[in-house]
Amino acid sequence: MNDEACELCRYGAALAAQGLARAGSGNISVRLADGRILISPSGEGLGSLRPDAVSVLDPDGRHLDGPAPSKEAPLHLAIYVSRPLAGAVVHLHTPYATAWSMVAGHDPSDCLPALTPYSIMRLGRVALLPFAVPGSSVLGDWVRAHATHHSAFLLANHGPVVSAKTLKDAVFAAEELEETARLALLLKALPHRALGAADIDAIEATFGDRYR
Ligand SMILES: [Zn+2]
Repeated sequence: MNDEACELCRYGAALAAQGLARAGSGNISVRLADGRILISPSGEGLGSLRPDAVSVLDPDGRHLDGPAPSKEAPLHLAIYVSRPLAGAVVHLHTPYATAWSMVAGHDPSDCLPALTPYSIMRLGRVALLPFAVPGSSVLGDWVRAHATHHSAFLLANHGPVVSAKTLKDAVFAAEELEETARLALLLKALPHRALGAADIDAIEATFGDRYR
């Protein structure tokens, strides 16, 4: 468990160093081989996590050890319950992804445009969920209802939640979502070429869910 706790702290620090977890925002978790979950604690910035001070939850989300878990733990639990292969979850309040969540007219089952192959590899189709108060149980319910078919979500007016088999891939997915939202905003008012259905099919056929 200590290796995983150290990894959690290392990636938390990396996200914070990039400016992706400002104002104490964001929470990350990993699922251990025995089903327990390590998650960043409530009220602790991702840049200052300590391996001896992460929260430990049982597979049903009950607090086993360490400080109190992030109040957004239900989001993480909802993904672990619905995606048996998910090994890590990253939730951030990053500016471009959050801005994109507020743009009108999205398809809620596919809210991010297909601009680069990397976003398709790492995110698949990103689902947009309506606004709900952070930490409220309904957010977990919505994620649970859709997580079988989606590994990445945008919470409206709030931020992204992504999962992958490993913490490294979940962190890369969160970074990819932020970068793709930035591209989408840059291109919003410009004529541009997005990837077409045949491009997406070819990427999916080559990479499948290798990274998510
Ligand atoms: Zn949040």
